[in-house]
Amino acid sequence: MTGHPTSERPQPLIVGAGPAGIRAAEALVAAGLRPLVVDEAPACGGQIYRQRLAPDGRSSRDLYGSEAAKAETLHRDFAALDGKLDYWPQALLWNLRDGRADIMIEGTSRQVAYDGLLLATGATDRTLPLPGWTLPGVFTLGGAQIALKSQGCAIGSKVVFLGSGPLLYLVAWQYMKAGAKVAAVLDTAPFAAKFNLLRGLPLFPGIVLRGMRMTAELKLAGIALHYGVGDVRIEGASKVEAIAWRQDGLEHRLTCDGIGYGLALRSETQLADLAGCRFAFNARDRAVLPERDAAGRTSVPGVYLAGDGAGIAGADAAERAGERVALALLQDRGLPHDAARAAALEAELARISRFREVLEAAFPFPAHWVRDIADATTLCRCEEITAGEVRAAINRFGVHELNRLKAVSRVGMGRCQGRICAAAAAELLAHEAGRGIEAVGRLRSQAPVKPVPLTLALTAQQEAAE
Ligand SMILES: Cc1cc2nc3c(=O)[nH]c(=O)nc-3n(C[C@H](O)[C@H](O)[C@H](O)COP(=O)(O)OP(=O)(O)OC[C@H]3O[C@@H](n4cnc5c(N)ncnc54)[C@H](O)[C@@H]3O)c2cc1C
Repeated sequence: MTGHPTSERPQPLIVGAGPAGIRAAEALVAAGLRPLVVDEAPACGGQIYRQRLAPDGRSSRDLYGSEAAKAETLHRDFAALDGKLDYWPQALLWNLRDGRADIMIEGTSRQVAYDGLLLATGATDRTLPLPGWTLPGVFTLGGAQIALKSQGCAIGSKVVFLGSGPLLYLVAWQYMKAGAKVAAVLDTAPFAAKFNLLRGLPLFPGIVLRGMRMTAELKLAGIALHYGVGDVRIEGASKVEAIAWRQDGLEHRLTCDGIGYGLALRSETQLADLAGCRFAFNARDRAVLPERDAAGRTSVPGVYLAGDGAGIAGADAAERAGERVALALLQDRGLPHDAARAAALEAELARISRFREVLEAAFPFPAHWVRDIADATTLCRCEEITAGEVRAAINRFGVHELNRLKAVSRVGMGRCQGRICAAAAAELLAHEAGRGIEAVGRLRSQAPVKPVPLTLALTAQQEAAE
């Protein structure tokens, strides 16, 4: 399936071979188009259905648990498209300009013209800085899961999971099932918030009950579940040695050598920005996201969005959104498309969106944490800027917009381009400036959207100038 596009004419370009990208590709192929699918990962599946790096004796059930059948189906369906599309794995799309994409593949950068751009770039973990969060042994929840899924290893011999969101319990449960020692799960939300899940029962009873079962199994295994934790500190001289927190006015401390930490997810939106899409604030995700209609069309003709990269909705929604957006692309080209199927997909997406509201209430983002971030805590890891330095810059220059904060403090100017720190910087800025999070804006995206070798970027620029 790999190789370079055979077609002389520009193809529809799909970025991301996760649930959204795969279902989009499938629908385009079914309509007789030949898309080019690129993904920086070595194999298809995206985040949730990530494949192991090499066969290691684990079954799909071991890897994906209750989602094993979905994972196998998605992998199989993508393999069945072999010969009908072009697929470049390990291909990072790092820039978009003038209707062309710069793609890093096999150590070189290729410029690809496309006819229709479908962005299915997914999400990454969202965090807020904590004392000790930069110590070796602290991983994001997603990172902890990747270690387990891809390499079959745990992040420590005694692991604590901390944060908010369904992934918190899921990853803890996956570690427990894999035989790792899970010392505790620290949930930032109070236990009472979980009653909101009952509102989700009529919408998706299977998911709610599965979540309850996982929590019960964690408890039965003797793993302590703590709710409403705050004032968290990770301790250690040169690596994680313990975690301390406050709960119901009492101090707690637990020794451990690995911590998985995350406060739900944030969308990967840089490519939509480089494509010129209009953005708007989304209150549920507490983020400025590319605008799209119910089908996935952006404000830029020929540019489409699907999956978590356009707002967090989960893997089932990503599959449906991928198919829906492909139907939109066909419709926009005047090609036959199944309008009834499109309507059914939109109805299902609306139902999932209502369920997302429930999850948000059950696993709320601890926005109040931001006022307690100690001045000495590192906020921007790339540029090594502390929360105190950011606060000082905000107050000294009277900053109330995120790009201005970047200019005066260098927050978000490093290798990650704000992908790790921007959400936290926005929260801190909103708090310090006394504004709502919706009023501080978003960092403008710059190429390369992810780190690439300097020589490669220069060569690409020279080629473009010639
Ligand atoms: C680390 C992590 C772990 C998760 N684990 C679970 C889980 O266990 N269970 C669950 O229900 N949900 C999980 N989620 C959420 C779930 O993965 C998503 O809801 C779902 O995968 C969304 O599908 P998607 O197709 O939108 O994006 P993804 O599955 O994230 O796929 C996006 C793909 O785009 C590729 N990509 C992104 N940018 C570029 C680029 N510039 N160039 C080339 N390729 C690019 C990525 O490599 C990725 O393969 C997880 C999310 C994360 C971030």
